[in-house]
Amino acid sequence: MALMRDNLRFPLPASMVRDLPGLTFSSVSRRSKYLLFYFDRGPVLIWHLGMTGQFHVLSQSSPLGVHEHVRINMENGTALCYRDTRRFGYAGLSTPEALEGHIWFNQLGPEPLGDIFSADYLIEQCRGRRAPIKSLLMNARVVAGVGNIYASEALFRSGIHPGRAAGKISRARMTLLVEAVRRVLCEAIAAGGSTISDFVQVDGKPGYFAHQFRVYAREGKPCFRCGGAIRRMVQSGRSTFYCLGCQH
Ligand SMILES: [Zn+2]
Repeated sequence: MALMRDNLRFPLPASMVRDLPGLTFSSVSRRSKYLLFYFDRGPVLIWHLGMTGQFHVLSQSSPLGVHEHVRINMENGTALCYRDTRRFGYAGLSTPEALEGHIWFNQLGPEPLGDIFSADYLIEQCRGRRAPIKSLLMNARVVAGVGNIYASEALFRSGIHPGRAAGKISRARMTLLVEAVRRVLCEAIAAGGSTISDFVQVDGKPGYFAHQFRVYAREGKPCFRCGGAIRRMVQSGRSTFYCLGCQH
């Protein structure tokens, strides 16, 4: 294992170089925006990709990339390489037992594709709240991992205006919204994600979900459902795209 530098956004844990060699990867999963690398024993490696971080599996003989900061050589002759142009990524170590209590995880709401995220759950979270539904959908304490694109798309598909007060949405419409969030995320995953600028899949290919956007980045273009012009507004500093004719 080689670190080409000792910090990214934050210092890299020095114990990585001491503790990880000799371990066998057992699985890779994700919680919120963090990748979790599990091993046959010992620590869990937690990794946030920041804005431009990418992992690639390459041959060990491939030359070091300009923005390659970490390389983990594996017994089968391949190397797991971390590249990050802007170096906003960061990493940490925990143990499987301590993970949910880790400072990066202990405030997080449930995963949108997990069992806890349901209409009942979302209604409970939104009860009495006047904040716009889009802001609550993007609040990681409410639900972890519904980003700006997917919040806009799910609200369009469920016919809910993004500015509507979260506490004033009926159970029937919340049910549609939860289904739409799950569907949009599953479609995006199947399409390999959404490449807007930097995102690529682990094999270096872009994600194609952008071809399926119904509102996102379509300001002024006709709505696929009603033909009206898609509008854009700014909420909490982020662009929201919606159709006034289809979303109430
Ligand atoms: Zn429309």
